[in-house]
Amino acid sequence: MGIIMSPDLTSSPAGDTLLIIGYGMATARLLNRLADRGYPGPICVVSRENIVGYNRIQLTPWLANPDASIDLNLVNPKVMSRLNIRLLTQTDVVSFSADLHQARLSDGSQLSFAQAVFATGAQPLLPACDFKPQPAIRAFRTLNDGHFLRALPKRSRVAVVGGGLLGLEAAWGLGQLGHQVTLIHRNSHLLNRQLSHPLASLLANTFIKAGIELRLNSQVSGIDSDPLLTSITLNTDETLPVRCLIAAAGIRPNNDLGQQSVLATAQGIQVNAALQTSAGHIFAIGECTEFAGQTFGLVAPVYAQAEVLAQRLMGGSAEFAVSHSETRLKISGLDVFSTGQISHPKTQVLSLVDHHQQRGRTLHLLNNQLIGAELLGDLSLANYFNDLIRTQCPINDNRELLLGRLQNAA
Ligand SMILES: Cc1cc2nc3c(=O)[nH]c(=O)nc-3n(C[C@H](O)[C@H](O)[C@H](O)COP(=O)(O)OP(=O)(O)OC[C@H]3O[C@@H](n4cnc5c(N)ncnc54)[C@H](O)[C@@H]3O)c2cc1C
Repeated sequence: MGIIMSPDLTSSPAGDTLLIIGYGMATARLLNRLADRGYPGPICVVSRENIVGYNRIQLTPWLANPDASIDLNLVNPKVMSRLNIRLLTQTDVVSFSADLHQARLSDGSQLSFAQAVFATGAQPLLPACDFKPQPAIRAFRTLNDGHFLRALPKRSRVAVVGGGLLGLEAAWGLGQLGHQVTLIHRNSHLLNRQLSHPLASLLANTFIKAGIELRLNSQVSGIDSDPLLTSITLNTDETLPVRCLIAAAGIRPNNDLGQQSVLATAQGIQVNAALQTSAGHIFAIGECTEFAGQTFGLVAPVYAQAEVLAQRLMGGSAEFAVSHSETRLKISGLDVFSTGQISHPKTQVLSLVDHHQQRGRTLHLLNNQLIGAELLGDLSLANYFNDLIRTQCPINDNRELLLGRLQNAA
């Protein structure tokens, strides 16, 4: 993977510096846009990871297809060379003072800045029970995690905790690599935030047919990992022998540094529509943020924030607003799509399921308008349903809607 870096540091006065903490997907997009717009000032990026600016989203197809050449790089060295940038990898910002305009780094050095951006992302939640920490109990968040999973001995017994998008993709990828996978999910059906019951059970069948064992309504209540992981116990009292446990059941915004720096935080670092924190010269973007009471776990809002901030840093007045996001499962040959609201308590729900062909669609209507749609197996109508939701087109014929033939769609 050809990731940059131009380590050399400019001699610009540190006092003008824009400090960016973290070099994940939000920062990659921000730097691209700053380069496009000709941002003139010195930038210093401090990154905990050794590889920077890679496409985390593609880690799951990358895991499942070791022979395919999947480009994870989001950094174009030619574009980056337009910026006056200094990069410090494998370095943490360990303390930060907004008032003094200073940050202390894990190598002991001190950095002065004029403005700063928190882009510290989020961290996965590990099971809440006690266990002896070790590499075999981990999340799937970084390229290093991916390398660990790819190197597991053949036919390992692996438990994946979490039946959301990431858990499903990780379980599928590990199954493709020939491991014996059990997927543990605390809800009664998979992808419960994106799918309602009919399509979720079709999806579950596909996983079972692929040899992945499912444990629904289940949580990990004990981990036997002293000295090495040998088994886990579920709240159903079942014990599963496992060699590796992958946690994919939720994330927590990385806001500790923000909190310690006395920026306003709740679930994440609180930002306004200009992406300013409670200190006007400190910004935050990505999964570390909280905007209007909402945190983020998908890249679309993260990228939208990066676009707004790039404009702001160039003197513009763009504002960030939350828009509805769609989600798709990235498993080759297993198409799942969900958009809009699928759990509004007052909707009329229409479902069309073809068990034989393993495909179906479920639509959610409120006040004669489509507000949510789920598709499995055939995504050809995804854009059509997205448009109906976006334009709030009145629905007069449910049957035509279900068949995808409603007239006057945008
Ligand atoms: C396997 C996987 C698959 C995914 N698939 C999808 C998908 O299909 N669709 C989708 O929309 N989203 C998906 N996501 C989510 C998406 O990747 C995230 O929304 C996105 O990466 C968030 O970007 P970010 O820059 O906020 O955080 P990150 O990309 O996590 O970057 C934050 C960086 O900051 C660093 N950092 C933290 N604290 C410090 C510090 N104190 N000092 C220095 N550095 C620090 C971290 O180490 C990290 O490198 C997926 C995520 C994973 C893990």
